[in-house]
Amino acid sequence: MSLLKKLLLTFSICHLTSSIFSQEVYTYARKIVDTMASQSMHGRGYVNGGDSIAANYLKNEFKKIELKSFDEDYYQKMNFAINTFPNESPVLITKYIDGVWVPGKNYLVSAGCPSIIKQKKLQAVWFDSATVNSLDLMKKFTSRRFNNKWIIIDPHGVTNADKLKLFDFMKANNYGAYGIAIVNDKKLTWTCSQKVNTYPSIEILIDDTLRKKIDKTKMCYINLSNKSQFVPNHQSQNVIGYIQGSVYPDSFIVYSAHYDHLGQMGKDVYFPGANDNASGCAMLLNLATYYSKPENKPKYSIAFMAFCGEEVGLLGSKYYTENPLFPLKNIKFVFNMDIMGTGEEGITVVNGTVFQKEFDKLKAINTENKFIKDVKIRGKSANSDHYHFSEKGVKAFFIYSMGGIKAYHDIYDRPETLPLNEFENMFKLITKFGESLQQ
Ligand SMILES: [Zn+2]
Repeated sequence: MSLLKKLLLTFSICHLTSSIFSQEVYTYARKIVDTMASQSMHGRGYVNGGDSIAANYLKNEFKKIELKSFDEDYYQKMNFAINTFPNESPVLITKYIDGVWVPGKNYLVSAGCPSIIKQKKLQAVWFDSATVNSLDLMKKFTSRRFNNKWIIIDPHGVTNADKLKLFDFMKANNYGAYGIAIVNDKKLTWTCSQKVNTYPSIEILIDDTLRKKIDKTKMCYINLSNKSQFVPNHQSQNVIGYIQGSVYPDSFIVYSAHYDHLGQMGKDVYFPGANDNASGCAMLLNLATYYSKPENKPKYSIAFMAFCGEEVGLLGSKYYTENPLFPLKNIKFVFNMDIMGTGEEGITVVNGTVFQKEFDKLKAINTENKFIKDVKIRGKSANSDHYHFSEKGVKAFFIYSMGGIKAYHDIYDRPETLPLNEFENMFKLITKFGESLQQ
């Protein structure tokens, strides 16, 4: 065979294996995201046992991949308090939209919203640009008590930083009002709460179309119903498995991703959490699959950690670092993945400036192989599960993908709109960087 023919053949074989391999990665990722973000997992939170269903799914995947377990069943159990919404979805009635507002789409009750025992139609007063632009109105407003009224806090049109602080101040002080409604003109963003607030609060979406219908000179009412349930001792669990290293079994590389999301706001509204963080779990399971193949057997042990309670306040990873299954000092590196579903704009590396040498390596690998558009550096941030590790002196990165859809902590973070278009490239970058961690 001529040299040229040989080269061509090698090239086509390489090309073929790499595309089969990629297809496998993508197909598995798609299956995981579709499953974990489906209605059957109830937003992987605290209604209908969503977080436990997700943990059980991960456990079964770990079993299929034949990961080892530190305990019998991969679970590290823990408890925490959480405010939940297992009952009928909250109902909001105001005069600006015909009929009833749609929960999740038009409004959210705050995660710490208490139950409303007796539903009341109450007058609402506006705290808005007109209020903060007039010293007189400000004085009047702050000297009042608002018993049996709602305050609608509407920062629309205000850009002055000092004046914006007044809105933050109002959000924290209700001046005796029955409830607070916070206006957002772009998107609604939900969260989790470990406590029950002393008064009801909601976030309402007023986009340009709705804003045109609003006449603030006319009397306005809010009528809200909500039934929440505080659970002081909810049991959840981290799901942890590992592959033993062939040369340094006591030394670990850790890959992590949180599997929990926000759950449900009432019976009918669930938060799918496809990007945040079914996509990270998909990467975690793909990495576990990859390293479990005999040809990829690692020198250092690799632990795969799927954390619970991240959205509640990094609870699973915090618990892990306080109750580690092997000494934290035996961890060579933690690679945390959260929001891996897009990537048109590349990735950002949190703790990149803290562990500059490792960042430079990751960046160089990407530049050399042209996997993704950009590897952006960022400093320290307590925004995902890497945080408690690096606070305890363990080297840790947190990477998230950038660009594409903007759904985040809302009902639109759905599997069918999550592209996973750079997923394989990110997978290649992570495994290539993994080679350097295994040195
Ligand atoms: Zn997340």
